[in-house]
Amino acid sequence: MIVMKFGGTSVESATAIARVATIVSARLDRRPVVVVSAMGKTTNRLLAIAKAAAEGQQSEALRQLEELREYHRSEAVQIVREEDKAELDQLLDEHFTELSQMVAEIAQVEEFSPRMVDAVSSMGERLSSRIVTLGFRHAGMDTVHVDSRAVLVTDTRHTHAAPIFQRTYARMRETVAPLAEKQVVVMGGFIGSSQDGTTTTLGRGGSDYSASIIGAGIGAEEIQIWTDVDGMLTCDPRIVPGGYRIKTISFAEAAELAYFGAKVLHPATVLPAVEKNIPVLVLNSRNPEVSGTRIVKETVHCRNVIKSIACKTGITVVKIQSLRMLMAHGFLHRIFEVFDRFQTPVDMVTTSEVSVSLTIDNDSNLDDIKDELSRIAEVEVETNRAIVCAVGDNVRGTPGIGARIFRALSGINVLMISQGASQLNFSFVIDATELRPAVQSLHDEFFSTLDPEVFA
Ligand code: ASP
Ligand code: MG
Repeated sequence: MIVMKFGGTSVESATAIARVATIVSARLDRRPVVVVSAMGKTTNRLLAIAKAAAEGQQSEALRQLEELREYHRSEAVQIVREEDKAELDQLLDEHFTELSQMVAEIAQVEEFSPRMVDAVSSMGERLSSRIVTLGFRHAGMDTVHVDSRAVLVTDTRHTHAAPIFQRTYARMRETVAPLAEKQVVVMGGFIGSSQDGTTTTLGRGGSDYSASIIGAGIGAEEIQIWTDVDGMLTCDPRIVPGGYRIKTISFAEAAELAYFGAKVLHPATVLPAVEKNIPVLVLNSRNPEVSGTRIVKETVHCRNVIKSIACKTGITVVKIQSLRMLMAHGFLHRIFEVFDRFQTPVDMVTTSEVSVSLTIDNDSNLDDIKDELSRIAEVEVETNRAIVCAVGDNVRGTPGIGARIFRALSGINVLMISQGASQLNFSFVIDATELRPAVQSLHDEFFSTLDPEVFA
């Protein structure tokens, strides 16, 4: 059995779904379980609709809802068998009636609670998975839909629920695996339900995570993440073109890269797969012949020291300084307690005895954080920064990498430097305006020759 996950752009239209059907048809002997995202930008559109409703624009919300329905109908109708048209109409009716009831409820209470966010945003995957099921039948496959909410059990932290693995895996083994022996199973990513049956979601971009959980649950031999890029690259093509495809990368390297902005893969994705030692492949649904990037548990032998340069913009640096804290313990504790209280993840940290610099990429509670921290220290905030991160298993244990990095960066103002405990990466913060030259010059330095076993 394999898991094949297709993201929003891979199922955004009738043409795209037909392409997915062709890709899946060619792999029936591997007994695929297919996991899909919402079609195109549906999740964003659903959230915008609910927000409009909460702000009292109910008629605007209903107008947009009608547009969304028409989008799903007009694409789906092209890939549904004549005898399934009634089923399509019925499922559209059911889902959009439920949605308009939710919109009415939100408009009435003028509030969009996390529980309601999940109920609304889950609709994207609930719809897409049903439509893809019909599309697969149309393409001649024996296909069955499984509602992920019946098998993916989570806690109740709405909008970022965590799976309850044991229960989830038991249900996947009992229901999904036996079905997959005989039919192509199609499931929605991103969604699950709590133990009392309330709909939950795993957080934005969570379909990759679903694929990994499902793969681990059914004991898949491989998890394929189908995207619209040829795999993971040596640098971010949006920043610097001309990067090379990485053929094989270790889980540890991929996790570091995902964390620091490689949009290809959600960081948490790899965890359930790593635990069960299941390889994850990143593949391109528009270019299925390309062998993509294979993410494996063990270290990949490579003659290049760096595998990839990732970066992340929209970074805010918070600089915290307190002379009062000289030789005092508990300073870091007090600082992190504040970020914790305002539910703001900290990405990179550097410290000296009396000062701490850290980066965050979510500014929404920054004012409160700043106020709280100001009680114990002087606080300065710098916005519009970027993190650049050079990743490779060989970073650990190869002398002179720091020197090469800083030579490549001469002329660029480096604001923070860090090498994490994994020692797989060198990360630093620069002004976002210097991102392009910095990445270009690092890429020139580390990828002028390539190990042909690892890069394409
Ligand atoms: N549809 C969800 C989102 O847009 C989940 C996903 O695409 O992975 O966040
Ligand atoms: Mg996505």
